[in-house]
Amino acid sequence: MDFQYPADVQEFREEFRRYLDSIATSELMDELRVGGQWGGEHTKRLWQKLGNDGYFGLGWPVEYGGGGRSLLYLHAFNYEMAYRRFPVPVVTLNTVGPTLTHIGSEEQKKEYLPKILKGEIEFAIGYTEPEAGTDLASLQASAVRDGDEYVINGQKVFTSGAHHADYVWMAVRTDPDAPKHKGISILIVPLDSEGIEIAPLNIMGGSRSNITYYSDVRVPVSGEHGLALHHDAARLRADRDQPDRAARARVRLALRQGARRHTEYQGELDTRDAGPHGLRAERAEGNGHEGREHGGER
Ligand SMILES: Cc1cc2nc3c(=O)[nH]c(=O)nc-3n(C[C@H](O)[C@H](O)[C@H](O)COP(=O)(O)OP(=O)(O)OC[C@H]3O[C@@H](n4cnc5c(N)ncnc54)[C@H](O)[C@@H]3O)c2cc1C
Repeated sequence: MDFQYPADVQEFREEFRRYLDSIATSELMDELRVGGQWGGEHTKRLWQKLGNDGYFGLGWPVEYGGGGRSLLYLHAFNYEMAYRRFPVPVVTLNTVGPTLTHIGSEEQKKEYLPKILKGEIEFAIGYTEPEAGTDLASLQASAVRDGDEYVINGQKVFTSGAHHADYVWMAVRTDPDAPKHKGISILIVPLDSEGIEIAPLNIMGGSRSNITYYSDVRVPVSGEHGLALHHDAARLRADRDQPDRAARARVRLALRQGARRHTEYQGELDTRDAGPHGLRAERAEGNGHEGREHGGER
């Protein structure tokens, strides 16, 4: 077995290493040292620089502005970033972006994907609640339709990054009468919306997550902000059931690209698409690599 990167990836890695050395300002290093993590002004500048120089979305499809590169490039990218303790907006790049490429509306793709790739916007993930962690289907946060808007109420815990992100990618119950693993939607909620309160949740080791509270927060049903996965689950299922290997591979790719936050990501997918043919089964029935890769990253 060859543990070396192929020559082209090695070349990319060395070039990227030199690039990172050239953009590591003392202000950034101070911010990361003092802040212990991310989200400050210099981190945001770093992300915008990386985005503008084409280093974000290396594995995204070219049609969405990504690099269309293999996982090895992503590995090299993450390795070099981690080596310097430079944060990567993983939720935004690995979960939100790839999910939008699969099931977002054209409007959402146009609105969010270019900004994600340019490092201009950041998402937090709002799945976990005090009584809904691993069992995400127990979530209680609700979004009730009122004309052209959803009105959101509830509480999330561990909404990491919410204190510096622009949006929360939020799982809410939109159909209280459906079985508990159905009737759940994802809404894209601007974090500066009226009715959102963000409280720090300090994590052992010195980093910070958040508790977020939502009181009558309003977002439009359609358009940029609504992403009703209970509808789109059908499309995802159609993809998955395709006899076409390429279509199945697209679903698996979405899973892989969500790898860094895949506890949450998996919760989301299982919630949408539970059952014997669920995405968990989809991973297992592949050539075996997906399951090991996924498991290995836990
Ligand atoms: C630092 C940090 C950052 C986080 N950031 C985010 C974030 O940004 N967004 C977000 O939405 N969430 C976030 N989370 C939440 C994380 O995804 C949850 O911790 C996770 O969903 C598990 O939920 P829980 O902590 O309530 O544990 P529980 O669900 O209570 O599980 C506790 C233990 O029981 C086990 N368990 C649970 N159910 C079963 C079962 N049926 N069978 C066998 N074993 C079981 C679990 O494996 C686990 O070991 C974060 C968590 C941490 C610690």
